[in-house]
Amino acid sequence: MARYTGPSCRLCRREAQKLYLKGDRCYSDKCALNKRENAPGQHGARRSKLSGYGVQLREKQKVKRYYGILEGQFREIYNRAEKMKGIAGENLLQLLELRMDNVVYRLGFANSRKEARQLVTHGHFKVNGNKADIPSMTLKVGDVIEVKERSKASDKFKAIMEKGQATPTWLVAEPEKMSGKIVSAPARQDIDLPIEEHLIIELYSK
Ligand code: SF4
Repeated sequence: MARYTGPSCRLCRREAQKLYLKGDRCYSDKCALNKRENAPGQHGARRSKLSGYGVQLREKQKVKRYYGILEGQFREIYNRAEKMKGIAGENLLQLLELRMDNVVYRLGFANSRKEARQLVTHGHFKVNGNKADIPSMTLKVGDVIEVKERSKASDKFKAIMEKGQATPTWLVAEPEKMSGKIVSAPARQDIDLPIEEHLIIELYSK
């Protein structure tokens, strides 16, 4: 199945909340949700009341859109989360956070997860000194992520690093070296997204 290539803001309007898919623009007055809150399409202004199933489905769609993941890959991550020790919903979020593209974004090497995915695919990063160009790869505690030497001088990375970004407690960034390390597994309280993960577990458990 092809990746969604339509307007990102349309996805936020569909979910009726900010998904922060466009970097700086999402924090500015230019955010499309500030202008139009209704869902996209001809009947977008009429939001009908959702059934229990509908609420669960929307929660899953929202999380997939946050992380930019398609159904098959998301289902795979859920299957892995379910087999892990602990609470399946929290495991699911932990696995999503540990994706290479998300870690790059969280370390402040990209303005959005979408941009992070592109930068990873274009081969701008190394993990533990080795080439790492697969956005979906799952990283682990102790992994060191760094911008490749030849990419460090690019205006793109210089601008991003100058801007600076706060990192979550499970990551330590060294902006001057353009590198960062995963120092602990992301715990639920470290994940600042308004997600009700139990709804997704309920949906897939049917
Ligand atoms: Fe969503 Fe960002 Fe577009 Fe606002 S600017 S609607 S948060 S993608």
